[in-house]
Amino acid sequence: MYAVLRSPGEIVFGRGARRAVPALVAARGSRALIIADPFLADSVEIGELRTELEAAGLRSALFTDVVPELPVSAILSAVRAAADFEADIFIAIGGGSSIDTAKMAAVVVAHGGDVPDYYGEGNVPGPIAPIIAVPTTAGTGSEVTPVAVVTDPARESKIGVSSPYLIPAVAVCDPELTLSCPPSVTAASGADALSHAIESYTARKGEVGDLASSRVFMGASALTDLLGLEAIRCLAAGLAQAYRQPDDIQARSLTMFGSLLAGLAFGTAGTAAAHALQYPIGAITHTSHGVGVGLLLPHAMALNAPARQQELADVARAMGAGDKPVNELADAAPRLVRELMTQIGIPLSLEELGFPRDRLDWAAEQGTHAKRLADNNPVVLTVEAARAVLEAAYAGT
Ligand code: NAD
Repeated sequence: MYAVLRSPGEIVFGRGARRAVPALVAARGSRALIIADPFLADSVEIGELRTELEAAGLRSALFTDVVPELPVSAILSAVRAAADFEADIFIAIGGGSSIDTAKMAAVVVAHGGDVPDYYGEGNVPGPIAPIIAVPTTAGTGSEVTPVAVVTDPARESKIGVSSPYLIPAVAVCDPELTLSCPPSVTAASGADALSHAIESYTARKGEVGDLASSRVFMGASALTDLLGLEAIRCLAAGLAQAYRQPDDIQARSLTMFGSLLAGLAFGTAGTAAAHALQYPIGAITHTSHGVGVGLLLPHAMALNAPARQQELADVARAMGAGDKPVNELADAAPRLVRELMTQIGIPLSLEELGFPRDRLDWAAEQGTHAKRLADNNPVVLTVEAARAVLEAAYAGT
C-alpha cells in the first residue's frame, strides 16, 4: 500500500471555530496582517476578531483590497501592507482569492523578487510566515493546499504556484461563515470542491518513487482516496440543499466539511483534465473557476471511464446510486454529476457559457500545456482527447 498526505499542522472545524483564531495566532506571532475579503470589511466578525486579538496582547492591521481571481497587482498591494506593518503572521479570511492573496504576499515578503518568479512547481525556496486560513466559501480547499492561482495580465490563462511552503500553518473552518454566500457563490465554489474530490480520486496513482523527485503532487494514494470519497459523500448530501436553502447550517456544515476533505485529497493527489481545460475556458469567458470545472467535469469523467471503472463506480455509490454492477455504476457517475450541476444552476454547455466554437482547437492545445494537471490525468490528455472533451462540453451532451 502507498500513502502520502500533506496538510497544515492543525485543522479546526466546526460552528464557531473562528473564535479559536486569537489563541492560534498568539502561539505563532505577535503582529498579524488580516487579509480579508472586501465583503467582510465592516463586518461584526472582523470587529470581534480584532477586539479579541487586542485582548490577547496582539497587534493587527486590516487589508481588504482583495480582488477575485487574484490579479498580480492586488498581491503587490498586500505585500506593501505586510511590509509597512512588519507583519510576522497572516490571517487570511475570505474565499480562495483572499487565502491565495495571503499565500503569495507571504512568499514575496519572505523571499523578495516578483510574483512571476514563483510560477509553476517547487519554485518557492523556503518557509514563509505562518498563515491562519479561515475560508468563507466551501470550495477551493486553499486553506489546506500547497497551491495559489494567479491572474497575470501578461498571460492569457491563469497560472498556478505550487510548493509545500504554501500550505497554511492552520486551517480554521467555520461553516457559519458560509451562511452569507449567495446561491451563485455556493454553486461555483461547491462545483469546484466536487471536482477536487472526483479528480483526485480518479487521478494517476502515485508511486513511492515520486517522492524522490521534487514534484509537488504525488498522485492518488490510500489516504487521499479515503478523503476524496468521503468528500464526495458529504458534497452529494449537502451541496444542493445549501444552494436551495442558504441558511441551512447542517447543509452548510456538510458542504464545508466536504470541501475541506477534498482540499486535503487534491493537495497531495492533484487534479487533472477538468482543471487543465478550465484555464483556457476561464480566460476567454471570464467565468469563475468553479463554473468552468463543474461544467467540464462530467465530460472529463467520460474520457477517463475506460481506465477508471471501479473508481467511477465508487463515485456513483458515494452519490447515492445504490448497489449495481460496476459497469452500470461507472456509466451512471458522469450523469449523476451532471444532475447535481443542473440542480445548482451550473451551465451545461460551453456554448451557453459564451465560449466561441472557433476557439476549441486553441483551448485543447492550451489545456495540454498545463502539464502538471494533464500528466496527472489517468488517460493521456492528448490534444485530440482534449478536443473531444471540449467538443462534448460545447454541445453539452
Ligand atoms: P472568491 O474568493 O473569488 O470569492 C468569490 C466572491 O464571493 C467574491 O465576490 C467574494 O466577495 C464573495 N464571497 C466570499 N465568501 C463570501 C461569503 N461568505 N458571503 C458572501 N460573499 C462571499 O471565490 P472562491 O471560489 O472561494 O475562490 C476562487 C479563487 O480560488 C480563484 O482564483 C481560483 O482559481 C482559486 N483556487 C485556488 C485553489 C487553491 O488550492 N489555492 C484551488 C481552487 C481554486
